[in-house]
Parts: sequence; structure tokens; C-alpha cells
Amino acid sequence: MKLILLGAPGAGKGTQAEILSKKLGIPTISTGNILRAAIKNGTPVGLKAKAYVESGALVPDEVIIGIMAERLAEGDCAKGYILDGMPRTIPQAEALEAAGVGIDCALSIEIADETIIERMSGRRTCTSCGATYHVVSAPPKTEGVCDNCGAELTIRKDDAPETVKSRLEVYHKETEPLKAFYEARGKLKSVENQPTIEATTAEIEKALGITL
Ligand code: AMP
Repeated sequence: MKLILLGAPGAGKGTQAEILSKKLGIPTISTGNILRAAIKNGTPVGLKAKAYVESGALVPDEVIIGIMAERLAEGDCAKGYILDGMPRTIPQAEALEAAGVGIDCALSIEIADETIIERMSGRRTCTSCGATYHVVSAPPKTEGVCDNCGAELTIRKDDAPETVKSRLEVYHKETEPLKAFYEARGKLKSVENQPTIEATTAEIEKALGITL
């Protein structure tokens, strides 16, 4: 299964990618998580990306395309992958095609902007493994601590309400046109966000025609 998850920031792509990845036994590649780790470690990519990520702007296409080429060449991607947060622009999607990166389906999670703004204020992210939680709908077992790896949970700088609004604008302008791009290739499927994580996963299973 070679899957792209599309959807606005906060639509639940990361959460659903983690579930699908465990159940299907294929890796999730999250450009956001790769960039946050690079920023934390002060690598050359991290230094280039920091100001963009923290202000909610998109990192230049060539940086992202370089990261993806390196990651997709790793052995664990041979059986399939879930791309979470990439492509985010038409040039990125074209670069994937030009590199011969196969895609079975681009699955879009549809959600209203107002729901996202409410939701992002409760989001907490692991500083080490990138897992996400929500203070009300998906709390960790111990407050402030990641269930997966025990590291500290924080509020992402780009989850501040004003930054979320500008990230949504960027999404509508730069990323939403990818729906038409994949529709034209017969690859687009859409699901509506549901009130619970499990119900959204069930919609995704239906859309993909799989039982997890
Ligand atoms: P995410 O965790 O997917 O919400 O990504 C967080 C931030 O990382 C975004 O707001 C961008 O600044 C940057 N980013 C992640 N993926 C991409 C991408 N494919 N293209 C450009 N910027 C990206």
C-alpha cells in the first residue's frame, strides 16, 4: 500500500497514519516530524527549515524533495509507505512522479476550519517520537508524558491560534489543489472527519476497501 494522506493541518493525518502504519506494517513518513527532529538536532536541514516551520510557512520545495528522496531510498519503504504531510504543493507532487514514486491512493480527510482551530488548542506533541495527543479526546496515560517513549509532551510553536489560521490559509492556497491533481489521475478518495479517532479510521477502511 502506497498511500498519501491529504488534509488540513490538524485534520488527524498524523494520528491516522500511525494507526494505519501499525496495522499494515509499513512506515509512515512524516515530513513535519523529520523537520522537527532536524530543528531539534540543529542539522543543516533543521537550520534552513526552522523559521519556516515556526511561522507556519511552507519549507521550500527543494528541501522537502531532498528529504523525501533520502527517506524513500531506505529499505523499510520497499513494501509500501504512508506519506503524511508530503506532497504539500503541486511541484512536490510532480517531483514524486518524476522520481517514479508509486502512489495507490491519495486519501483526503475533510474537516471544517472551525473544528481545526478548536482542536489544535488541545494538541500536545512528543518532543522525542512525534506522537500526538489531545488533552480532551486522546489524553496520554500520564499528563505531559508520551505513552510510546516516556518523553515530555509540549505544545508545538506552530499550534498557536494565529499561526494555525495562517497555516490553514497556506493549506487552502497551496495544498488543496492537490485534490484535483490526484482526482485527474483517478487516485483521490475522500473521507469526512468523524467525532472520534476510531470512527474516522473506520471511514478510511471503507474508503480503501480494507479491514484493519
Ligand atoms: P506538519 O507536522 O505536517 O503539520 O508540518 C509542520 C510544518 O513543517 C509545516 O507547517 C511546514 O512548515 C513544514 N512542512 C512539513 N511538510 C512540508 C512539506 N511537504 N512542504 C513544505 N513544508 C512542510
